[in-house]
Amino acid sequence: MTEPSPKAPSAGRPDAAATPSLADAVAALASHVEMLIEEGVRETELDRETLRELSRPPRRPTVSAPPASRPIASTPAGTPAPKPTEADLEAARRRLQEIAAEIAECRKCPLHRTRTQTVPGQGFPRPEILFVGEGPGQDEDRQGLAFVGRAGALLTRMITAMGLSREEVFIANVVKCRATENYAMVKDRAPTLDEMQACLPYLRAQIAVLRPQVIVTLGNAALEGLTGLKGITRLRGQWREYDGVPLLPTYHPAFLLRGGGDDTARYWDVWDDLCAVLRRIGREPPPRKRPAAG
Ligand code: SF4
Repeated sequence: MTEPSPKAPSAGRPDAAATPSLADAVAALASHVEMLIEEGVRETELDRETLRELSRPPRRPTVSAPPASRPIASTPAGTPAPKPTEADLEAARRRLQEIAAEIAECRKCPLHRTRTQTVPGQGFPRPEILFVGEGPGQDEDRQGLAFVGRAGALLTRMITAMGLSREEVFIANVVKCRATENYAMVKDRAPTLDEMQACLPYLRAQIAVLRPQVIVTLGNAALEGLTGLKGITRLRGQWREYDGVPLLPTYHPAFLLRGGGDDTARYWDVWDDLCAVLRRIGREPPPRKRPAAG
């Protein structure tokens, strides 16, 4: 297929430099549809605002690419981490608060306009496991806490089924402000690559303080935002390394909820991934069972 040649700007019409080519618009739409299919969405509404957003020129990363994420062996023998001292924990808590304060003042990307408050993430300051999602939704934006809506409740049940509590892990997102399709703030959307890249320094600073033994990315956007890799269906359950920390991508709890919650094959895929995480940190996975209803 030959690409249409760009048209010259004409009086009263938007400048050609600001108008995407038809090929760009079609590519953006195709990529959006592909992402929806991967997320398990079978029906969606594409209103004018969404189409206008998709038709804007392709977004390029504005900051340096994330560190290379390389595949690593799937079943190394893990050993439990030594217990941090109280002084370590206090220092980590203080540094995390400083990072949260920086985030609260941040205006580095357009998402600061659609947030009620920032959501830096919360949990144990020296956790064995760091869970990373894509970004806050409506409930998180209201409460300033990560994963507190329905998806958060499922994540909590899964963490409990692993024999842990939310207080023992850290839960954060790639972006710290809610992304919505327009300023009406009705419909959430995935953060763009630009937004994730703008926000990534905060998560990297948090990782440097937290020093988790394992990072678990939840869903497509978290995987792409942190590693630059796309395709959660293909890459789920495959160990990688991020900044020297073992990283395992798995599905987002919201994706499980859309597909039937904890009564689906995909739920058990996630459970298998979480058991691999437990083995990696030197813990024996509990018997296979559904998380308690909550
Ligand atoms: S999403 Fe991140 S980079 Fe964008 S305004 Fe919020 S804190 Fe800043």
